[in-house]
Amino acid sequence: MEHPENDDLYRGLKVNKGVADVPTVNPYLKKKQRREFTPSEFVEGILKGNITILSQAVTLVESSKYEHQQVAQEIIEKCLPHAGKSVRIGITGVPGAGKSTSIDVFGMHLIKEGRKLAVLAIDPSSERSKGSILGDKTRMEALSREKDAFIRPSPSAGSLGGVARKTRETIVLCEAAGFDTVFVETVGVGQSETAVHSMVDFFLLIQLAGTGDELQGIKRGIMEMADGIIINKADGDNIDKAKLAATQFKNALHLFPPAESGWFPKVLTYSGYYNIGIKEIWDMVGEYMEFTKKNGYFNYKRNEQAKYWMYESINDTLRETFYHNPAVEGMLGQTEQQVLNNEISSFVAAKRMMDLFLENLSKK
Ligand code: GDP
Repeated sequence: MEHPENDDLYRGLKVNKGVADVPTVNPYLKKKQRREFTPSEFVEGILKGNITILSQAVTLVESSKYEHQQVAQEIIEKCLPHAGKSVRIGITGVPGAGKSTSIDVFGMHLIKEGRKLAVLAIDPSSERSKGSILGDKTRMEALSREKDAFIRPSPSAGSLGGVARKTRETIVLCEAAGFDTVFVETVGVGQSETAVHSMVDFFLLIQLAGTGDELQGIKRGIMEMADGIIINKADGDNIDKAKLAATQFKNALHLFPPAESGWFPKVLTYSGYYNIGIKEIWDMVGEYMEFTKKNGYFNYKRNEQAKYWMYESINDTLRETFYHNPAVEGMLGQTEQQVLNNEISSFVAAKRMMDLFLENLSKK
């Protein structure tokens, strides 16, 4: 029977006969093919500040296809001489800390000052769930309507390192397109902060005042990375609690060894929702920039970051070339099984795979 559900056994359930697909209205109508831009056309569009072209270029950066990566790398290379001039700010905080509300208000403050803002994100959850919780336009209502704001959710494919590298490359494109301020947002839960820290000039930690034991919930490493701690929701009944939390943070910071930058992290209270204390946050960033540019740390850190990303890219490429090598792909499962069966040791297995890889390196 074509539809067993129509059997008496399934009373109450009925499957109707399907309807054939309607033919295309005009079978002669050819789908309009979008002509692909050449890398130079991409670069020209980006340098003119064309947001549509910038978005398409970012999509290429995020793509894992080999051809796309080739084009993306060429675009990035050509954009590099025009990049580097923005203020890069990392923003972290646990979900609910008020990141989107704050970025929206903070961003609008900057746009009113005549700045152009790109909001990017590194979201480790998007890798697992395929859904990004950060950088989504709907979370930043006012900013998303601004022509001087470019909001891009987290790239989703690959390892955290891979995702972070793509965001780092996207910064280059945004800067070449004339964005003079870049926010890189992340959730304050783990390793993603380190990745963000390695691509920004200033690292901002959003905190909430709570039950008095707020210091316990924060990983020491994250606090050590922060150049500024801002305590959100300092409004209404919460003002005193926020001030108390600020004092606790200040005290805790004194226990840390001095930062390499020579800058002592500041602690401020504010309210993203009621737009209180936002100007002071931006002033703090400005002060930091001036301080680190004067003592040379700004350039030192950017150089160190460039070096770090060079090695990250090499490591990524090596790993990818190894695992995508047909000879390796063909033998990996079998070799793994031999290790599991205790037939060979892990080290012998690794050496065999490496030898195989090197022998077949030129045969792509
Ligand atoms: P995110 O998950 O870190 O992006 O946090 P959201 O920006 O989505 O904010 C979480 C919740 O806190 C929302 O319900 C906001 O309305 C609220 N919120 C954010 N900022 C403030 C603030 O300054 N004061 C108060 N009272 N509530 C806020």
